[in-house]
Amino acid sequence: MTTIASDEVLAYDEAVQRFDPVLGLEVHVELSTRTKMFCGCSTVFGAEPNTQVCPVCLGLPGALPVVNAAAVESAIRIGLALGCTITPWGRFARKNYFYPDMPKNFQTSQYDEPIAVDGHLDVVLDDGSSYRVDIERAHMEEDTGKSLHVGGATGRIHGADHSLVDYNRAGIPLIEIVTRPFEGAGDRTPEVARAYVAALRDLLRALGVSDVRMEQGSLRCDANVSLRPRAATPQEQAQVPFGTRTETKNVNSLRSVERAVRYEICRQAARLSAGGSIVQETRHWQEGAGLTTSGRPKSDADDYRYFPEPDLVPVAPDAAEVERLRATLPEAPPLRRRRLQDAWGFSDLEMRDLVNAGATELVEQTVAAGASPAAARKWWSGELSRRANAEGRELASVPVTPEQVAQLAGLVESGRINDTIARQVLDGVLAGEGSPEEVVTARGLEVVSDDGALGAAVDRAIEANPDVAQKIRDGKVAAAGALIGAVMKEMRGQADAARVRELVLERLS
Ligand code: ADP
Ligand code: MG
Ligand code: ZN
Repeated sequence: MTTIASDEVLAYDEAVQRFDPVLGLEVHVELSTRTKMFCGCSTVFGAEPNTQVCPVCLGLPGALPVVNAAAVESAIRIGLALGCTITPWGRFARKNYFYPDMPKNFQTSQYDEPIAVDGHLDVVLDDGSSYRVDIERAHMEEDTGKSLHVGGATGRIHGADHSLVDYNRAGIPLIEIVTRPFEGAGDRTPEVARAYVAALRDLLRALGVSDVRMEQGSLRCDANVSLRPRAATPQEQAQVPFGTRTETKNVNSLRSVERAVRYEICRQAARLSAGGSIVQETRHWQEGAGLTTSGRPKSDADDYRYFPEPDLVPVAPDAAEVERLRATLPEAPPLRRRRLQDAWGFSDLEMRDLVNAGATELVEQTVAAGASPAAARKWWSGELSRRANAEGRELASVPVTPEQVAQLAGLVESGRINDTIARQVLDGVLAGEGSPEEVVTARGLEVVSDDGALGAAVDRAIEANPDVAQKIRDGKVAAAGALIGAVMKEMRGQADAARVRELVLERLS
C-alpha cells in the first residue's frame, strides 16, 4: 500500500470567497465507427491484445492511411450539434512525440485547421440556473494504444517489472472538444463542470456517434482549472488576468469531474493564499483519496513540431453535404426531455431521477408498448434501477425488454397479479424463463380471486383463530386484518386481498 502525499487545501467556502475559478474542459470521445480512423481495423472493445492491428495503425514503413468517411460525418454532426461553424477545408497534422503506446511516433491530429470551431453548449444545474459554455473547437484525431505495467503494486510504471503494449486502441477515431476558458460561475464552477460533461454526453448519445462510456474510456475529460483574485464587481473581475492553470487528466466519471475541479480550487487557493505560485502541469485524479497529484510539467509552448500530414488529402466537406448532415441532427436533449415530461405529466424531480437513471428511452419504449407513463416510470426508476445498481450494470443492459415491462405492468393493472408477485415474475423474466405471461403460468403465480378456493381458505382461517373471529362478530372489524394475513400466508401472497376481506366480513357479520 503506497500513501499519497497530499497538499495543503483551503476550505472550499473560503477558497471561492478569495478567488474566482476559471475552467477549461477538454473532452475526448471515441467514435463508435465500425473501423478505425485511417485503416479498416475493427474498433470492437475488449478483444485479445494486438489482434485488431494492421500496417497502417502500427505505423509500418510505407503504409498509407485513408480517412474514414463515417468518422468525418460524425465529427461534422457533433460540430453542428454544438452550434459550430464547419471548416470548409482543413488538413490533418502530425503531432510528433515519442511514447511506446504510439507506434507511429506521431499522432495524426488536427492542429490549426480543426473541422469545427466557435460553438457553445448550454448547461442547466439542478436548481434550474443555466450557463452557456463556449466551445473553441472540435477536432479529429486518433487514439493511442494502451500500456500495461506488470509486476508492481500499483499498476503504474514505477516499480513494474516490465510493460506490455496493446495497439488495438491505436487509431480509433477520436474527437476532442475544447471549451474556451469559462468564467463567472464562482462557487458553482465544479457543478458547471459536471453538468457540462453530462450535457455533452447526452448530446453525443442522442447523435448516436459514441457509446460515451466514461468507465470504459470512450468519453474522457481533462479539467483545466486556474484561480484569480476575487474582484468587487463582475466588470472588475473581467479585467483581472487569468492565473496559471493545471490540467487534471482523464477523469472518468461525472462525479469525479466535479470533485476534481473542487479539489483543485481548494489546493490552488491554499498555495496562492500562502504566497506560493501554481506550477503549470498535468495532474492525476486519485479517486480513492479524493485528491489530485502532480503529473508532468506542461508549458503552452510544448513543441510537438506540428506539420501538415503529407499522406492525407485535406478534408473539404461541401456546403450541401454539411446541410444534408444538419438535417440528420436529433431533437436537442433538453427540449426532448421537456416535451416528454409534459406528455407524461411527471414532476421535475421525477423526470430528473429518470434521466439520472438513464431510463428516458426505456420509459418511452415501455409507454409505446402500452404501459401507463406512471407504471413505466415506477418499474424503471424503482425496482429495475435498484437491481441494475446492485449488479453494477447499466440499466439498459438488464435482461428485460420494455415490452416485457409493459406486459408486467398490464398484469398488475388488470389485477391478475399484485406488486409482490410482480417482483417474483420479474425474477423469472430476468432468469430467462420467458415473458411475464409465461412466468405467471409456469410458476403458477396468478392471484386467486375465485370464491371457491378463497372461501375454503377463509373458513380454515376462522376455524384456526376462534378468538379473532369472535372479536369480528362483536363488531371489531379491524381485527379482520389478522385473518386476511392468515389467508395470504396460506396462499403464498397470491390471494386477492380485497375479496378475502369481503368474504371474512360476510361470514362473520
Ligand atoms: P493543451 O494543449 O494544453 O491541452 P488546449 O488548448 O487543448 O491546450 O486546452 C486547454 C484548455 O484549457 C482549454 O479548454 C482552455 O479554454 C483552457 N484554459 C486555457 N487557459 C486557462 C486558464 N488560465 N484557466 C483555466 N482554463 C484555461
Ligand atoms: Mg488539449
Ligand atoms: Zn489498422
